[in-house]
Amino acid sequence: MRNALDQLLLPAECLLCRALLPFRDSQRVVCDVCRHRWRPVRGPWCGRCGQPEPLFGRCRLCADWPAALVLARSAVWLDAGARAAVHALKYRGLPRIAADLASAMASLDPPGLAAAWLVPVPLGAGRLRERGYNQSDRLARALSRRWNRPVVELLVRTRDTATQTALTPEARLANVAGAFQVRSGECGMRSEDRPGNSALRIPHSALERPLVLVDDVFTTGATLAEAARALERAGARTVLAVTFGRAVVPDFT
Ligand SMILES: [Zn+2]
Ligand SMILES: [Zn+2]
Repeated sequence: MRNALDQLLLPAECLLCRALLPFRDSQRVVCDVCRHRWRPVRGPWCGRCGQPEPLFGRCRLCADWPAALVLARSAVWLDAGARAAVHALKYRGLPRIAADLASAMASLDPPGLAAAWLVPVPLGAGRLRERGYNQSDRLARALSRRWNRPVVELLVRTRDTATQTALTPEARLANVAGAFQVRSGECGMRSEDRPGNSALRIPHSALERPLVLVDDVFTTGATLAEAARALERAGARTVLAVTFGRAVVPDFT
């Protein structure tokens, strides 16, 4: 509602450079010029994690990933402009910028996409309450419109990292075991999930499809690997991952 009002009352301008957007682009948040400034992540890269190849030896970034996670790709390097766009998505209450970010991700086109389902990386309950939406879910839904593939909220995050210190030793142990769980009757429904909630009824056949994890930023891949591990434990065979941004991390070798 507020977005709709904003669009009626204010001429639309690019979030990043403040240029006025042409009328046909008034739904957008970022102008063409700024989007073209985003620097695509290109090869040569590790065929699995999509990180530029190390000078010597094997890629270490993805060496410990669960076997099911076969491929991860990011659309653009997280330079200043791309970082500002992610910031707007996460912290400035601008979820409709997800469409602009998804337009940069659309060409990632992971293998097996024609049969795949998209799985947003979930937020913890506290973070979700604060933000009011899950940015990865918004990205997945924007991608879903471009790729014409469904979004399934297969994963739940079992903890908010900020509250970790307040947990009991037992809960901490559970944390080590992984921050994500698959939600589905067949895959071990948690006791607090109410049966009869249609959002939770996910067919087991979902796990036989290629699953594409969607997240905003890839830094070391640890979150995606953890999410993929949960899917793998539940029986998923092939997990792929796509993110909008890739952070430049210090050399791993
Ligand atoms: Zn601009
Ligand atoms: Zn790698």
